[in-house]
Amino acid sequence: MKRFVLPAALLLLPVLASCAAEAPDDAGASAAPPPAPAAEVHWTYDGDTGQDTWGDLSADFATCSTGAAQSPIDLPAHAGVRATEHPRITSTPTTAQAVDTGHTIQLVPRTATSRVEWDGKNFDIAQVHFHAPSEHTVDGEAMAAEFHFVHATPGGETLVIGVFAEEGPHDNQDWQPFVEGAATPGTKDLPFYVSAMLPEDPTFESYVGSLTTPPCTEGVRWIVYTTPVELSADQLAVLEEASHGHNARHTQPEGDRAASEGTVILEH
Ligand SMILES: [Zn+2]
Repeated sequence: MKRFVLPAALLLLPVLASCAAEAPDDAGASAAPPPAPAAEVHWTYDGDTGQDTWGDLSADFATCSTGAAQSPIDLPAHAGVRATEHPRITSTPTTAQAVDTGHTIQLVPRTATSRVEWDGKNFDIAQVHFHAPSEHTVDGEAMAAEFHFVHATPGGETLVIGVFAEEGPHDNQDWQPFVEGAATPGTKDLPFYVSAMLPEDPTFESYVGSLTTPPCTEGVRWIVYTTPVELSADQLAVLEEASHGHNARHTQPEGDRAASEGTVILEH
C-alpha cells in the first residue's frame, strides 16, 4: 500500500477561501439541479471533443481553459498548512442506484444520509462516481482508480471527497456494491454506506479547485484521502471496463494554491 508523505514545513498561509460554486451538472438526481444547456454538449476525454478542447465546445465550458484554479492537481501540493478544523463526516446505511452517465458510473443514494460538516457549513452527499486511472496524482504517478463523493450545500456550494484505489489481494466487500453497479447499472437497489467506503487512515489533503468535468466550475473544496483503499484486480478490471477506455482529466497547474493537511472525524 502506498501512502504519500506531506511536506514537513507547515507555513502559516491563509487558508484559501471558497467562492460560491454552481451545483455540479453531475450532482445526481437527489440534488435535482436545473438542467443546464451545456449538459447537451457532447464531450469526451480524447479526440475531436477531447479534454484539450473542452473550453471551446461551449461558452458555458470556458472555465475549463481559462480557469486558474482547476482540478485535478499533482499531490502533495506545495506549501501545506495544517487545517485548523476537522471535517466531521456522519453517515448511515441506505441504498443507491447505479447510473451510467456515459462518462462514468455513479451511485445515487435514495436519501442523502451522509453529510460533511466543515467550516460552519453542511454538505450533503449527492452521488459517488469513479475515474480510472486516478485524476489526482501522487508525485506524478496515477493510482489505479479514484472515487469522488460529491457533496453540496443547499446553496449549491460543492465539496468532493476523493479516495484513491490501488490493487490489493482480496475483493473489497465494502466496495463490492459499487463494483456490481458499475458492471450492471440499472434500477436495482445496492447497499450504500459511505463510512464503510472511506479509508481507515483519516489523513487528507485539502485544496480549492474545480469540477474535473465540463463545465469545470471552480470554488470546489477538495478533501483527498492520502491512503488508498484496496480493491482486487477483478474489481478494478470492472471499473476499467466501465471507464470507456479511460476517464481521467490531466493534472492542472497548481498555481499559487496552497493545500492543507488534516484529519477527518468519522462518526458512525
Ligand atoms: Zn469525478
